[in-house]
Amino acid sequence: MEYEAVIGLEIHAQLLTDSKAFCSCTTRFGAEPNSNTCPICLGMPGVLPVLNRKALEFTVRMAIACNCTVNQVSRFARKNYYYPDLPKNYQISQYEMPVAEHGWVEIETSQGVNRIGITRIHMEEDAGKLIHDEQKPLSYVDLNRTGVPLIEIVSEPEIRTPEEAAAYLRGLHSILVYLQICDGNMQEGSFRCDANVSMRPVGEKSLGVKTEVKNMNSFRNVQKALQYEIDRQIEQLKEGVRIVQETRLFDPVTGTTAPMRSKEQAHDYRYFPDPDLLPLKVEDGLVSALRETMPELPIEKKKRFVEQFGIPSYDAGVLTASRELAEYFEET
Ligand code: ADP
Ligand code: MG
Ligand code: ZN
Repeated sequence: MEYEAVIGLEIHAQLLTDSKAFCSCTTRFGAEPNSNTCPICLGMPGVLPVLNRKALEFTVRMAIACNCTVNQVSRFARKNYYYPDLPKNYQISQYEMPVAEHGWVEIETSQGVNRIGITRIHMEEDAGKLIHDEQKPLSYVDLNRTGVPLIEIVSEPEIRTPEEAAAYLRGLHSILVYLQICDGNMQEGSFRCDANVSMRPVGEKSLGVKTEVKNMNSFRNVQKALQYEIDRQIEQLKEGVRIVQETRLFDPVTGTTAPMRSKEQAHDYRYFPDPDLLPLKVEDGLVSALRETMPELPIEKKKRFVEQFGIPSYDAGVLTASRELAEYFEET
């Protein structure tokens, strides 16, 4: 039997705001551990979060770039979990009512240009960082990153190959950096990806059971992890073994994935509207004002370079990979 892969990606991008999502602490990277904190991001009882307006504007800019509908009203929700690096033990996120949904982006691979649907873009806060001592049975926690604004961009399960997944990721990374809403620094974790993949017989319409590979921060690793998962799942299916829905981790050294935990269902998080935050209203005026200030996006710029300057598509891709380089080329 011939199988095809079905891939959907979840991207977390850190927004380039000066202050955190719901308090005025700085988001600056590399400070003394736990120095960029206050009672709000430390999760003290009785404090009240207030949304960072810039974080909303940046999210709307990304929504526009991804051809999403921006919802006039959305809602923050509490995602409950046992988070050693998020002392409130819930993450402020969005659930039933995200800021934006129903979008798409164009990607280009050796197979040509293709459209990938964007299910939703929602805002949430980041957790802190655990540092595990390698000698002693001891862990440290640094809450500087706790409360830093993120957007989560969820794709439709419309990606079919690891190559397409990498192209999608590169495309979104480049849009975020062009929009100047994310520094795109993957080593520092400003752009990370969870990759979901399942297999199904070619021609089958319904979706198979998926596994999710968590928290990868390089395009190559996502591509390798997906290829490994595809091969592993096909082998299991051929042996008649059922795929179990689970969360897995990729080891870049061995190039393999291993189970991390059985997958939680949404109801395990007991999402509910955050009573500390009002429903979020996005005025039409804000969306249209931001629409006016949108830069030309990489894929459009690339098309224009090919048409206007008569250069090969590959060259145009290289020249538009970074906004600075593209602008420098054009000025020259
Ligand atoms: P979860 O609640 O496990 O995060 P979602 O339904 O919200 O699952 O989907 C998360 C991501 O997984 C999305 O990008 C979606 O496109 C993708 N996805 C969902 N079901 C499948 C499937 N059967 N195979 C591959 N990808 C899937
Ligand atoms: Mg998920
Ligand atoms: Zn704070």
